Amino acid sequence: MSGARIKAPRGTFDVWGEEAGRRARLEAAARAILEGAGYERIETPAFEATELFARGVGESTDIVQKEMYTFEDGSGRSLTLRPEGTAPVCRAYVEHGMHKRAAPVKLWYLGSFFRYERAQAGRYRQFWQVGVEALGSEDPAVDAESITLMCALLEEMGVREGRLRVGSLGSGESRAEYRERLRAHLRAHEYELSAEVRGRIDSNPLRAFDSDHPGTRAVMESAPRLMHHLEREDREHFEAVCALLERAGVAHEVDDTLVRGLDYYTRTVFEYSSEALGAQSGVGGGGRYDGLVQELGGPRTPGIGWAAGVERMLLAGREPPARTGSLELYVGTSTGAPDAGAGRGAHAEARGAAFELLRDARSAGLSAQMEMAGRSPKGQRNHAHRVGARYLALVGADDRASLRDMEDGGERELAAAEVVHAVLQGLRRLS
Ligand code: AMP
Repeated sequence: MSGARIKAPRGTFDVWGEEAGRRARLEAAARAILEGAGYERIETPAFEATELFARGVGESTDIVQKEMYTFEDGSGRSLTLRPEGTAPVCRAYVEHGMHKRAAPVKLWYLGSFFRYERAQAGRYRQFWQVGVEALGSEDPAVDAESITLMCALLEEMGVREGRLRVGSLGSGESRAEYRERLRAHLRAHEYELSAEVRGRIDSNPLRAFDSDHPGTRAVMESAPRLMHHLEREDREHFEAVCALLERAGVAHEVDDTLVRGLDYYTRTVFEYSSEALGAQSGVGGGGRYDGLVQELGGPRTPGIGWAAGVERMLLAGREPPARTGSLELYVGTSTGAPDAGAGRGAHAEARGAAFELLRDARSAGLSAQMEMAGRSPKGQRNHAHRVGARYLALVGADDRASLRDMEDGGERELAAAEVVHAVLQGLRRLS
């Protein structure tokens, strides 16, 4: 009896084969760039107390209102699969007293996040992000460096047709005053707005800038802009960030309608999008969150960070380079398939010798694989070619082997025990 097939949940995916290789290359690139800039890796749990996101991300955001995977554990605690990485990192910063370390504390992460969103190309319910957070400094150079690192990673991944927009959400009183002004504008046009935006006039008026609703968009055309009402310090901070980006040669546009979906942002915000992606064009984004650590019970601590989606970077990036022959030796037997009747004893002998060669090759530092699917000598040669092997050694029962250079097709006979030495020489690892 066989059971009914079980599929992976909607909005999730499996990673294997070449895709796993592309993701590994992305992780290596992120590590090289971020650790090279002094960021340390941090890993936080996949689930946290629900309260962390309710308070950290903000009650009025889409994430908290409708996208969280929240559940009760066996003891009735409310837990949530992390929908984003900044609140958990700030929680860890407070919990481990990291404010005692030299500022800025620079951390990076790579992990999976969970949002109950409408699944479509480029939008998943479990997705991966690379992100950074720098805590403890409000120097505009930290903002500019953070943005520059994001762009460096995207460039390294070959993300095409990109556009970086930056803006400032100000801070403190100017922000509160501006919200009031915006609320007044929205109320004056209440009946032209979408029901969703109308319902959020009090709790989150800024999100109206993100709406696709035609009536709302028309109202927002004439809405007051926060960037025109920044306090002098915030304006100077933003100008300094932009000037440093210029110095670093990072192309950017100032966008006075840029708001982000999370409540905690203050001052600098930025977003990188790629036309190569279609509807879900956001590749990465972030901003400053000078009040968040305090909101989570820590000391007053400025902070800034970003997150970039792994799947979106890979979708928007250039095709991976053709497979290079990273497999140095493919070991097989010249005796062919195991069920070759009279030759069975000879085959067992040859397989033993091949297995020994596999071990010797790996001990000598070669990347090596062995035939394990009973292919004929010709089938082994085809397969060695398919997996990109540089050399193929077919071992016989007499401890002799034929060694084929898959690049130029040259072949020679030698003792099986000499194969490793010959391959190392061929690869110029021995003089
Ligand atoms: P956010 O945390 O919403 O600012 O998102 C940062 C980046 O994560 C986005 O620019 C996307 O690249 C990626 N991202 C966010 N949500 C999803 C999702 N549901 N599926 C895939 N990638 C996502």
